[in-house]
Amino acid sequence: MGSWSGTVVLLVTISAAVLSTPLINQLQPGQEWPQLVKQPSHESVEVISEKSTGEVEGELVIVKPQVDKTEPEDEGNEDEVTPEIDFKTKSLIEGKEDTQKVDYTGAQLWKVSTQKDGWRIVLSRLRRRNLISTWGTNGTTIDILVQPHAIQNVTNALKRENIPFDVIIEDLQTRINQENPPLDENEIELQDRRGHRMNWKQYHRLEDIHGFLDYLAKTYPAIISVKSIGKSHEGRDIKLLRISNGNPTNKAVFIDGGIHAREWISPATVTYFINQFAENFDVEHDDIKNIDWYFIPVLNPDGYEHTHVRDRLWRKNRRPGSGLRGCAGVDLNRNFGYRWGGKGTSNYPCSEIYRGPRAFSEPESKAVQEFFQNTAAKFSAYLTYHSYGQYILYPWGYDNAVPPDHNDLNDVGNNMAQAIKSVGNDNYMVGSSSNLLYPAAGGSDDWAKSLGIKYAYTIELNDQGTYGFILPTQYIEPVAKESLASLRVLAAAVHKI
Ligand SMILES: [Zn+2]
Repeated sequence: MGSWSGTVVLLVTISAAVLSTPLINQLQPGQEWPQLVKQPSHESVEVISEKSTGEVEGELVIVKPQVDKTEPEDEGNEDEVTPEIDFKTKSLIEGKEDTQKVDYTGAQLWKVSTQKDGWRIVLSRLRRRNLISTWGTNGTTIDILVQPHAIQNVTNALKRENIPFDVIIEDLQTRINQENPPLDENEIELQDRRGHRMNWKQYHRLEDIHGFLDYLAKTYPAIISVKSIGKSHEGRDIKLLRISNGNPTNKAVFIDGGIHAREWISPATVTYFINQFAENFDVEHDDIKNIDWYFIPVLNPDGYEHTHVRDRLWRKNRRPGSGLRGCAGVDLNRNFGYRWGGKGTSNYPCSEIYRGPRAFSEPESKAVQEFFQNTAAKFSAYLTYHSYGQYILYPWGYDNAVPPDHNDLNDVGNNMAQAIKSVGNDNYMVGSSSNLLYPAAGGSDDWAKSLGIKYAYTIELNDQGTYGFILPTQYIEPVAKESLASLRVLAAAVHKI
């Protein structure tokens, strides 16, 4: 961690493989920083980044601090980039413990027009030089994160080509510092009286979230139960909460959050749903009461904690790294076992979209697989909550294809988006992930659909790139509230199957 993120690499001499890579694809969201790492034992061999076909979620790669500012910057040859030493490796070299918090001081988020293909090519060159990374896109613009040391270079490059851009975030670290302010004393007192520390005015540590689930199970034992369906790499529980009135004819809905560590609005939204149903169950609509609800608010507990204590922009789980570079982490949303290893994934451990050594290699995704193997519940829907971009996406993600009942998925998705619009006035786009965005194999939604679960959706929550992953806490309640309205629409659809 701590390095500019890597990508799948192919050991190739400069060759037709590079030339044949369509440049336009290199700017799709989910792209890696293409680290062109020179291998000491292969002086004449260059490591070229594999074409990445992008990522379902309209978000991905992150800026990491330049750890060695003494390295000369690559000015000329776009196919040759200064080798990078990642944070962990550097710490090892220097004999220091890797306990520092990653600092994003001076890193900026820009929104850049991509309306002309030529502009995309300019951006892909900058990206290949590790000067920028992509966060998200909406088709006509792309959000890029610019390294502090690269601001002048990137400015010059865009101005030279008359490419319009706006600076959206002047200093990412300032935003991170402001994102999640501590609670005032009144709120702390309230927490003590309530019996749990959860609220939706703040982003919470895992302990608060799990404490909240346990509190609900203890308080409402007739309808709520909590169990750990497995342990993460670092030994944290993967907690699943079930709400059910015990009606044997109930259909079931599964909801996960926090697959991607830095998408904090996801666990916040999923816990909001849990709170609404648990605290108001008696007066809830029959559509809600007559479904067995299964929630995993934080499917990637290690990564989530890592974003709180070490690196706010960490995405993957915390599978330990090996080898010299020692890059940690698997992208859990590339590790599910349907068409695993296909487009929009990487076999390079340093990549942000590293799919892992095999399908379900990770304890977190494996736990979900085993839960589904062993449950008697009849699931009619599987929702996985992410951010950002404001999309309701349905399968398939692995390639440009849709399942036979895609009209049903599209109709219900549109009704969900309409509910969001009517409650919170936010616009959500609806479509299949591969068509609306880009192919990415190994996602949990594809796998769920492959099990025969009818309504499988990936929801990309707010926003559309004003704050990106660093969504301030005042947005939690409005975002969660409008999402709850869409969940009610989904529940109604489930009863009509
Ligand atoms: Zn995500």
